[in-house]
Amino acid sequence: MTAEDQLSFTDAYARSTVARVRGIEQGDPPLLILDRTVFYPGGGGQPADRGTLLRASDGRTWTVSSARKVGGEIGHVLDGDAEAPVEGDELQVDIDWARRYELMRTHTALHALCGVVWRDYGAQVTGGNMEPGLGRMDFEFERMGGELVDEIEAKVNAELASAREVRVNVLPRDEAFAIPDLIRTKINLLPPGIETVRTIEIVGLDLQADGGTHVSNTREVGRIRVTGYESKGRINKRIRITLEDA
Ligand SMILES: [Zn+2]
Repeated sequence: MTAEDQLSFTDAYARSTVARVRGIEQGDPPLLILDRTVFYPGGGGQPADRGTLLRASDGRTWTVSSARKVGGEIGHVLDGDAEAPVEGDELQVDIDWARRYELMRTHTALHALCGVVWRDYGAQVTGGNMEPGLGRMDFEFERMGGELVDEIEAKVNAELASAREVRVNVLPRDEAFAIPDLIRTKINLLPPGIETVRTIEIVGLDLQADGGTHVSNTREVGRIRVTGYESKGRINKRIRITLEDA
């Protein structure tokens, strides 16, 4: 599978494709390898997609419960013990779009939160995780406290409502490493062998090295609610959000 055939990275809105089976990567679980796919394999705090496969020749279907990176490929985890499709089979490949789109909105909301917290409070993000419609980010944010919850929520919602464009860029390594915003998000931790860096830019608000799937405009996120924060020590604070209509 070439990079162009891993559609989640180039077109987050691609929800189905037709593909051929290339083989099975044996292991626990075995992973089905296709010549192209719309599945996101998970990473950067965003869970892998779920979905279905439909074999054109006989109408047989399989449920894909997860996906993951294996070497340079994306492997699909099939639900149950039923006989897998075989090499050469033509399949209709569909992701659970409602779930994925909620993850895209959630992921972009979390980047907007990072952008606001950095711009207005100077606090760096150290990690994060999400499920459809809810997520959390960890910050080095000593002065975070309950009195800031409403303020941060209002600021993030104002940014989302201002309809900022969200861009995906792939930059040569040297160029990426010269951008201060990327250095702050710990781009220097990327392994030396990586030649290009994929970035997600919420224009005018946030720029991060990121492999995930995002909506193309912040207005698609709608509004968020900050549902809480926790101290993970004196400096490290965790902020939780939900999408308001999740
Ligand atoms: Zn991200």
